[in-house]
Amino acid sequence: SVRVRFAPSPTGLLHIGGLRTALYNYLFAKNNDGDFILRIEDTDQERYVEEAEEDIVKSLLWSGIEFDEAPGKPGKVGPYRQSERKEMYEEYAEQLIEQGNAYYAFDTPEELDQMRERLKKSGNPAPKYDAITRMSMKNSLTLPQEEVERKLEEGDEYVIRLKVPRRETIRFEDEIRGFVSFESKGLDDQVLLKSDGMPTYHLANVVDDHLMKISHVIRGEEWLSSTPKHILMYEYFGWEPPKMAHLPLIMSPSGGKLSKRKAESEGIPINTRDYIEQKFEPEALINFLAYLGWSPGDDSELHTMDELIELFSLDRVSKGGAVFDYQKLIWYNEHYLREKSANELFPRVRSIAEEHGIQPDEAYMKEIIPLMKERVSKIEDFVTMGRFFFEDPKEYEDQAMKKWKDNSVDLLQAYVDEIEKLNVKEFKAKKLKDKIKEVINEHDVGFGPLMMPLRVAVTGMGYGPDLTPTLELLGKETTIRRIKTAIK
Ligand code: GLU
Repeated sequence: SVRVRFAPSPTGLLHIGGLRTALYNYLFAKNNDGDFILRIEDTDQERYVEEAEEDIVKSLLWSGIEFDEAPGKPGKVGPYRQSERKEMYEEYAEQLIEQGNAYYAFDTPEELDQMRERLKKSGNPAPKYDAITRMSMKNSLTLPQEEVERKLEEGDEYVIRLKVPRRETIRFEDEIRGFVSFESKGLDDQVLLKSDGMPTYHLANVVDDHLMKISHVIRGEEWLSSTPKHILMYEYFGWEPPKMAHLPLIMSPSGGKLSKRKAESEGIPINTRDYIEQKFEPEALINFLAYLGWSPGDDSELHTMDELIELFSLDRVSKGGAVFDYQKLIWYNEHYLREKSANELFPRVRSIAEEHGIQPDEAYMKEIIPLMKERVSKIEDFVTMGRFFFEDPKEYEDQAMKKWKDNSVDLLQAYVDEIEKLNVKEFKAKKLKDKIKEVINEHDVGFGPLMMPLRVAVTGMGYGPDLTPTLELLGKETTIRRIKTAIK
């Protein structure tokens, strides 16, 4: 049966790329009636960030991604935080030692620094561990047995390292990339167990994927180079490796990997929390991310989570990097806002309004929402762009004032004279439109010369929702007051 995991290290807020990895895992699991597991890889205590796990969980739930097993939702193969599994890893590291596939290494940090310096000086730009202990005795993996025992007894600090074969080609099949091969001579003798007894990512990851019966490892391309080491470990343990799938990089619009710094300089929010705070529609972000490296192979673009689950397959994930197109995300957001009813949107709009010091009347707000829907990109726009529904414009946008012409005052005066004659019941969009037509005909001008300054006068802005329904909603008194103020 299909079991996949999302295995973030809690070193910071959940990246948008991490969210995509989680999403693809989730879609793949659900497409196959399988399980989606959250495993927290918190063995690196130096990089541990207290609030990270909570942020990851909250971000995933906000996105609509639910776990079958997680730290807060234990299943049969827990615990789901690696720090709580610490004891399990040691015995596996020792198993590899007994088998001769790993060895104790007693180098001090200073010795390792010296080694790196030495190798760099000799012209090696990416020095690997020189495995001196390993080479010190012919036919032996390690120091002479007695010496190892003596050092262990004396309590010398040690790490356990994987004994990577000198000359071997390691091949595996990637579900997205096809066959991949690595030469073992390019691989370091990876540390598996650190001197504090904590496993490294590599040991913990392999042991847990096995113990948690993970069928498919779906993760970012940056992990591809770790996979040959993992494949070796599976082989030494005698375990069948899970199927591997490495997702394409997310690229910045200006080229290159979308790093934190790049994203910042290009105005792209990088953490899921940013999208939550900016009140994006989760459906929009999910739909957008689903297409960031995958497509169903037709030209459809809009799909709910359930549809994405239906459609998803690994063989349609692309190998090449996927460019993050922020405008496309906005387009998705606009779509999902329009899909939602005023009733659905109202509670959220109300709380945004309250943050802006506005207490909206429910019935009034529910008329504003449908009118503005075609214009808003984000839910906050209902309040910020729609501010004039609640208060007279305090100023007129410079950009909009460019539409103010010599004849604007006369035209607005003529219009006010007309609509003052209407009684409150007649103050309706259709009638107000007819009056616009009358005035422009009389003055022999097009729509623009009246509509533009009218919009500016009433809303303070050069663009916005359909004008005459807006006037109707604002009502006779407000509309007339604002026009008069503008032409005073
Ligand atoms: N802990 C790793 C990370 O932070 C997991 C990589 C993997 O999925 O194997 O992404």
